Amino acid sequence: MIVFSISDIHNVEGLSLKGTLSAEFLSTNQELSKICKDEIDYNLQIIEISENILVTGEISTTISENCTKCLESFKQPIKNNNINLLIEKPEKEVDLSELLRDELTYLFPIYPICCESCKGLCSLCGGNLNNKNCKCILEVFETEEKNPWDALENLSI
Ligand SMILES: [Zn+2]
Ligand SMILES: [Zn+2]
Repeated sequence: MIVFSISDIHNVEGLSLKGTLSAEFLSTNQELSKICKDEIDYNLQIIEISENILVTGEISTTISENCTKCLESFKQPIKNNNINLLIEKPEKEVDLSELLRDELTYLFPIYPICCESCKGLCSLCGGNLNNKNCKCILEVFETEEKNPWDALENLSI
C-alpha cells in the first residue's frame, strides 16, 4: 500500500516517498502476481497544485515470463521512470496503490522475448535454437544439394 495524508505534503518541498514493496502488493491482480514475484521499488515526488496533486517519479520491478519465441522462462527488469499522474485532491488521504499497479501493467510486454536475438524453436525438431545448434536445417540443405547423378555413378553396369 502506498498511502499518505494530504497534510504530509509540505507547501514548498512537497512530499518524497521512497521505498520497497513486497510482491504481495500485486496480489489483487491475478495477471500481475503470476509474472511478478520480485520486490517493487518506488521513488515518488508529490506536490499540490491547487485542487490536484501531481505525482512524479519512478517505479520498477522484475518480471518472470516465458519467451513467446523459444518458450524458455526468463527474468526481465521493467521500469517506468517517468510517472506523471495528476489526480484530484481528496479530503484527507491518498491511496496510490491502484494507480501504481496500473503503471506497472502498462510496462508488461504483450509478446515477451528473452532477448532481441532469440532464435526461437526449430520448426523441424522443436529444439531451442538458442541452446543447441540443431542440424535439421543443415540436413535438409544437404539433401537438396545432393547431386542426383551420384547414384548413377555408383551403379556398376
Ligand atoms: Zn527466447
Ligand atoms: Zn531441429
